[in-house]
Amino acid sequence: MRYRKLGRTGAEVGIIGLGAEYLEFVSRETVVSVVDEAVARGVNYIDLFMSSPDVRDNFGIALQNRRHRVMIAGHLGAALKHGQYCRSRDKTVSTEFFTDLLTRLQTDYIDVLMLHFLDEPDDYKVVFGSGGLLDLALKLKKEGKARLIGMSGHRVPVALDAVNSGRIDVLMFPVNPAFDALPGELTLEAAKQGVTRDRLGPTRKELYQACAVRGVGLVAMKPYGGGVLFSSANPSSIVLTPVQCLNYALSQPGVSTVLPGCKNAAEMKAALAFLEASDEEKDYSAISDSSLWKLKGNCVYCNHCLPCPVGIDIGMTIRLADTAGYRLDEAAVAYYEALPVKASECNECGECVERCPFGVDIIASMNRAVAVFGK
Ligand code: SF4
Ligand code: SF4
Repeated sequence: MRYRKLGRTGAEVGIIGLGAEYLEFVSRETVVSVVDEAVARGVNYIDLFMSSPDVRDNFGIALQNRRHRVMIAGHLGAALKHGQYCRSRDKTVSTEFFTDLLTRLQTDYIDVLMLHFLDEPDDYKVVFGSGGLLDLALKLKKEGKARLIGMSGHRVPVALDAVNSGRIDVLMFPVNPAFDALPGELTLEAAKQGVTRDRLGPTRKELYQACAVRGVGLVAMKPYGGGVLFSSANPSSIVLTPVQCLNYALSQPGVSTVLPGCKNAAEMKAALAFLEASDEEKDYSAISDSSLWKLKGNCVYCNHCLPCPVGIDIGMTIRLADTAGYRLDEAAVAYYEALPVKASECNECGECVERCPFGVDIIASMNRAVAVFGK
């Protein structure tokens, strides 16, 4: 493993970390095998944003007797409602889920306490304002239950405000060639006001530069764009390997570590192959900004759009519809059959749409799933 400083914090983090997003609904044995592979190869940064009890318990078991070897990023403001992930800005609810995280991880501190999923200016004001979640995070830090304060988000303007505020040590932000192909950030507010592309706000590169200049450790998430960059069926003409995607993220200014989402030990190994890859294998120069533009609006299956009032697992539903679009096989049908609530239950309320940071037309995706699977 090679290590980099996590911004001005002085902590040394392995350039390859682990994002736990795809380990939420797998067996405990799988989680343990991924952590075994990761820790043995020097991975020392794991992000665990999920709020469901099983995955927290599984990581607690996987990290038994080696908790001290990894930095854990846990999220303040990720909660559960009716069994589904949701965002919360309620301090009581957030404290309850933070305490639950410590208990289930069998630890008494979190290394990086992330203010979870902050994208909109109004939300930023609430979370960073007096009595908001940032104050709660600082209190937990004072009590020794958190060591560093971070923030996770997907949109440049709010992330840049947070970085420039001097109040966060770490920023977790998506870094991949598809998203970076966008010339600037179009916020929901700006879109409503009809802002044109030549009047777009600061670019993603400017955000990365600001992290580098201000010493905010930049943690790159979604380096594979949800896997869409690997498929020849993706809307761009470019197919990349995990090693190329990881190299792209690690080549951006300010990036300390990149967190591939791995759903088994083989995928962890594939990511760690970066450490032995040749320069030719790492070369991503084939990417073309203009063609990758077309990836905007693609689902990366993160489920940040939840909760859905009728209980649809939106990320999984779109993932299965996408997979079936390439190859409709028995496995995709069986997975879909097992979903407790089908896309046909969508009442087009639109609650999920504004929460999606990636501009996905979710209602159209639900209709597509119904067309593919018949329900
Ligand atoms: S629709 Fe958007 S928020 Fe929901 S899973 Fe897809 S990318 Fe994530
Ligand atoms: S639009 Fe459909 S998928 Fe989205 S929250 Fe409403 S019911 Fe759920």
